[in-house]
Amino acid sequence: MIKLAIVGAAGRMGCSLIRDLASFREYSLVAAIDRPDIPVLGEDSGTHAGTRPTGVPITADLKAAIQAADAVIDFSFHTSVPATAELVREFRRPFLVGTTALDATERAAVEAAAEVAPVLLAANMSLGINVLSELVKRAAELLPRGYDIEIVEMHHRHKKDAPSGTAMTLAEAAADGRKSNLADVACYGRHGITGERDTETIAIHSLRGGDVVGDHTVIFAADGERIELCHKASSRQCFSSGALRAMLRLVALKPGLYNMNDILHGTR
Ligand code: NAD
Repeated sequence: MIKLAIVGAAGRMGCSLIRDLASFREYSLVAAIDRPDIPVLGEDSGTHAGTRPTGVPITADLKAAIQAADAVIDFSFHTSVPATAELVREFRRPFLVGTTALDATERAAVEAAAEVAPVLLAANMSLGINVLSELVKRAAELLPRGYDIEIVEMHHRHKKDAPSGTAMTLAEAAADGRKSNLADVACYGRHGITGERDTETIAIHSLRGGDVVGDHTVIFAADGERIELCHKASSRQCFSSGALRAMLRLVALKPGLYNMNDILHGTR
């Protein structure tokens, strides 16, 4: 039985993970961590997630939680990741980071934890998106310049970062397929007199509204035809059950920083 701690437990993904735990006999939830200033602190984490009570209250005591756990899953906010990563490093716990929009310093804290524990950092835990990412890379390899690459993502109105981590992963896959460097060719939205499109450009556009869980479309547009590769998440379950499945593999791995490809294909 893996004793699991969830950071960001009161949020949308935290609640989805807690609901999904019922389908995994391998886990027992030992800690549900969130910020100290939220109104639901102390509430049963299962009740808050809209499922059976877990007997585990939502707490802000991160250190005690990580000490008590065998493994830690984080879907919170990018600024909170370093504090969790430092404790994960101290207690050498397998660590799955689903939180997106980490800056260089925040990512460095995750990399430091990966020196002593297996760490999975992935902007999208769904199997579908990981397959899409491979298809995008392959399409970019096969298609010549002249097939302009545009990526469109849409998420719910509460999402705090843009573009989505998934859109960036797909853009990286496209750049990889073309053997270009994303930082040199990326374009984020357009406005004003932009001039003609450069064929090297990989453009990324972010839409926000309503309750959209996550839509991503990668368009390869040429003269006379267009390919659109598209993924639509209709519930967060694809991310939460993907994360719980990935953690089952992660706990068996050596210390190191892993991505979803490593986990799905056992490539390392
Ligand atoms: P959310 O805002 O609903 O939930 C985040 C939770 O984290 C909130 O309850 C918030 O109070 C809590 N939190 C914030 N700061 C904290 C701190 N210092 N300590 C503990 N808890 C803290 O957001 P969400 O939709 O659940 O998404 C969470 C993150 O997961 C985002 O970065 C999002 O982009 C990412 N995400 C990743 C995937 C994936 O597959 N990797 C899928 C969906 C969302």
